[in-house]
Parts: sequence; C-alpha cells; structure tokens
Amino acid sequence: MPNVNRILETLEKTYGPQQAAGPTDPYEMIVYLNCGYPASDARCAKGFDALKREVGLSPREILAAPQARLTKLLRLGGIVPEQRAERLQEIARKVKGEYGGDLKAALKKWMQEEKQQTGRGVRAAKKILREFPVIGEPSAEKILLFSKLAPVAAVPSAFVEVPARLWFGKAGKSYAADYGAARDILSAGLAGTIEARQRAYLLLKKHGQQTCKRSQPKCEICPLTGQCAYIQLQAADRNIV
Ligand code: SF4
Repeated sequence: MPNVNRILETLEKTYGPQQAAGPTDPYEMIVYLNCGYPASDARCAKGFDALKREVGLSPREILAAPQARLTKLLRLGGIVPEQRAERLQEIARKVKGEYGGDLKAALKKWMQEEKQQTGRGVRAAKKILREFPVIGEPSAEKILLFSKLAPVAAVPSAFVEVPARLWFGKAGKSYAADYGAARDILSAGLAGTIEARQRAYLLLKKHGQQTCKRSQPKCEICPLTGQCAYIQLQAADRNIV
C-alpha cells in the first residue's frame, strides 16, 4: 500500500505548497458552490465575486435582491443562472430563518458535541450542511475542513479517481465507495490536524488537475509511477497477456 505521506511529499516537491481558493466561512462556501455551474473554481469565483460586489453576501442582502438581478450576475458563473438565483435565495432564507443568520455558530455547537462523543458532532454538522442545495457528503466534509471546524479527511470530489488509482489501481464499484475508501486511507495515514488534511486535499486536487486526469492520466510525466497501484496493475495485466 503506497505511503500517504511519501506521496504527498513527492507531490509537494512537484507542484509546491498549495493555497485554497474561495471563502472559508461555511455559509459563504455554500453560496460560492452555487455561484458557478458546471462547478469549477474559476466559474464559482466569477459568480461569487460579482455577487459580493454588486449585491453583498449576507442573507438579508441576497433576499432583498430581485431574482432577475441575481440571475444576471450568476450568468457570469455559467449555465442555469435562473435556478442558481433561486437556490441562493433558498440558502439565504434557510440560514436567516433556521440559524439566525449565523450558520457557523450552529455548526460550532455540534463541534462541542464532538468533544463529548467522537463522530456524533461531525455527523450532525454534515447532516445540516447536506440540507443545502448542491451540498453532498464530499462538499459537506470540505466545508468542515476548510472552515477549520473539524479535521475531516475530505477528498477532492472532482478528483476521486486520483486516490482510487494510486491506492487500488482503478476505480471501484461506485463513486461513493471510492470516496469512502479514499477518505479511510487519508484518515489512517495522515496526522489528525486541519493543516495536514487541508494539505492532502489540495495536493491531490492539483495532481488531478495537472497530471492524473480523469479521462487520460499522464503517467508518462507523473512523479508517482514508482508508488502507484495503477501502474503495477497495468504491468501485471501486460504480463498475463
Ligand atoms: S502514475 Fe498515472 S495513474 Fe498513477 S498517479 Fe500518476 S498519473 Fe495517476
């Protein structure tokens, strides 16, 4: 089984230290993820920056803005802006009505529970987050990690094939199974700190963007060939043939 920390050291030597993009407040992270579609850092940032500049980000400001105005701004972040404008108001309404305008405070309360009983607070916080539009388990875990609420071993959702190839040689039966298996590997191999887990997330994401691409990994230029299960599986298949 390739060593997690050795892999990350190699990736950091290759790409350098990575910085997270986007906001780090849980409510703003949900807004950000709804500002672009198909979601990418570039599209989400365009929609989010326009929203922040022209309307503001608070639930009150988003609820006061006409939908047509939100739609116009969100068009900068890609397709289906009308639906995303509706979703922004749904998010704002929920945060204002159910969490008194402060989602982070509600999540923090659950992190106090986490100290009493491991797993309980994180499960409850993820459940709250998953009630918002487009937030599945991977995004909920990313939000907890990058808002520094919990050192969850989140895996970059658009690059789950990177750990699947590295540790198992290929993708498994389902996205959910691959995501869970990758999270378990990271959780077991990394220090239980926010910094260690953010670093792993960002380096795996960068590797997926630059080299271990979804449709066609560029193994010929990859610095991890000596450690990668995908390469070993390919070699074994060639020997059998
Ligand atoms: S060797 Fe190929 S499959 Fe393995 S991590 Fe590198 S690019 Fe991905």
